[in-house]
Amino acid sequence: MTNNNSLSHRKEEPEAGILYLVGTPIGNLNDISPRAINILANASLIACEDTRKTRKIMNKFSISNNLVSFNKENSLKKIPKLINDLKEGKSIAIVSDAGMPGICDPGEKIVSKAISQGYDVICIPGACAAITALVSSGMPSSKFIFEGFLPKKKVDREKILYEISKNEKTTIIYESPHRLKKLMRELLHFCGGEREIFVARELTKKFEEHVSNRIASTIEFFKDKEIIGEITIVIKGIHKEKNEEINMSDLKKDLNELIKAGLSLSAASKFLAKKYGIKKSIIYNLI
Ligand code: SAM
Repeated sequence: MTNNNSLSHRKEEPEAGILYLVGTPIGNLNDISPRAINILANASLIACEDTRKTRKIMNKFSISNNLVSFNKENSLKKIPKLINDLKEGKSIAIVSDAGMPGICDPGEKIVSKAISQGYDVICIPGACAAITALVSSGMPSSKFIFEGFLPKKKVDREKILYEISKNEKTTIIYESPHRLKKLMRELLHFCGGEREIFVARELTKKFEEHVSNRIASTIEFFKDKEIIGEITIVIKGIHKEKNEEINMSDLKKDLNELIKAGLSLSAASKFLAKKYGIKKSIIYNLI
């Protein structure tokens, strides 16, 4: 039970009493890391969402191990037993059906429980659909918002759609294929047809498809198509013009004060233009 500053002196993995969060592929089984394979092969047990899906990965890499089911329905009930396994010195690998456990998949709660009980949690990073779609989209990726699946309840859903419509940051959404058209109509309503979006379908798989366009054109593109496969959507943030955000009467007040303090109109305009990142002529014209 050590979770203070001990991570830099790891022995061979997997270690006793450690909870490993293992990222698995989101389609292409070759996207698994050698480190993940080692943990899956050698942990005391694997807690997985669907034993059939995890077995597919294990068969591909000729791994055998004990699998226990750990999914949305039973995860809360299973946590005390798994924590007890850690206490007995077992190492546990948590995997979801695909991608990173804890990202719209079980994992989050057992991690917080394990940490609160003093156990180390180590993540073996792997593919995540949200990040794969974001970096493939070419949209600004230094700041982004991940919404996961939008809520189903109308009022909660509309609140988030409204927030997305005003958002300056890139937004990432998960959606099921049969609800994509409805979501696109909602995005059209809230964000307008000109907003840029990127629909990533079947990432890392044989029929991977990227549709990158304005909302209106994307709706047109999918209009007569049957949508199948897994979908992640990336929506570009709005671009606020710098001078839209600036309160013009405050700017005028600043300008008058600088002039009163003895600066020429030209010098004061130059100073404020630099401060607010706008053209000097905009300030010049205030007087
Ligand atoms: N934990 C996973 C991760 O790290 O990405 C996400 C699990 S969530 C239950 C499943 C959703 O992720 C899908 O409905 C889809 O929106 C998205 N997703 C998963 N695999 C994908 C893929 N290959 N291509 C596009 N989206 C995918």
